[in-house]
Amino acid sequence: MAIRVNKLSYAYRRTPVLHDLTFEVARGECFIVLGPNGSGKTTLIKTLANLLPVSGGDIFFRDRPLKRYSRGDLARRVAYVAQAGIDDSPFSVKEMVIMGRTPYLGVLGVEGRTDLEFARQAIEYTGLSRLSNRRMNSLSGGERQRAHIARAICQQPQLILLDEPTAALDLAHQIRIMDLMATLIKDQGITVVMVSHDINLAAMYADRLLLIVDGRVAACGPPAQVIDEQTLARAYGCHILVDRSPAGPWPRVNLVPKEGSRT
Ligand code: ADP
Repeated sequence: MAIRVNKLSYAYRRTPVLHDLTFEVARGECFIVLGPNGSGKTTLIKTLANLLPVSGGDIFFRDRPLKRYSRGDLARRVAYVAQAGIDDSPFSVKEMVIMGRTPYLGVLGVEGRTDLEFARQAIEYTGLSRLSNRRMNSLSGGERQRAHIARAICQQPQLILLDEPTAALDLAHQIRIMDLMATLIKDQGITVVMVSHDINLAAMYADRLLLIVDGRVAACGPPAQVIDEQTLARAYGCHILVDRSPAGPWPRVNLVPKEGSRT
């Protein structure tokens, strides 16, 4: 198992947000977390990244409690890409991406030829070669997001945790990033855990989905099982029709306007 979460709870001060979550993620799996706004997805992925101390329960990474890993150990194994936000850092894309190598550098902190090659490849994979000398604070939201993903790839992790990685991206880059994650899983056996709002994209790429509502597991399983009209209607509180994607053997959700609003 890559991750085992057992009765996980989390509270911000006195406000409980996650309640008794139990699930597992297999090695080499693409595992996507869905749920309405405020259901606890970001909180969950931050606890998996060891950025928030859990209030109850346990998280195991590769059968060892997450809290037993040192910061350096974890940095060599787990990469976390936060939601796209403002980035005022004065660094260039290249400088930012190579920071992914920090956990591997010796005491002098100097990058070697291999580190530079990992950075170059990660920049190329994410389609940023043309922008590699540009400052992070001069990029669009989508370009910045891709640079953060490039840094995560450059880190050569066993597990990548991503919080809505495609939210700021145009259609071509959404597919490109999802295809890239699928390739990393296939070629390097890494595990991907991702928060997404895009149920249709998730249906195409996830091996399994976790649907959380109000901090509790509402459903967990393959897309064909979780993407069910009644399950989604209960979770999101709106009318949803599910059919089959014309692009392949995946379920597809269709929103339905309120009766009478479009006539
Ligand atoms: P999601 O990612 O599903 O939108 P979040 O994990 O961001 O949900 O938030 C879950 C709940 O926790 C929300 O009610 C949100 O308002 C609350 N929350 C998030 N961050 C904090 C914080 N730093 N302090 C207090 N409450 C928070």
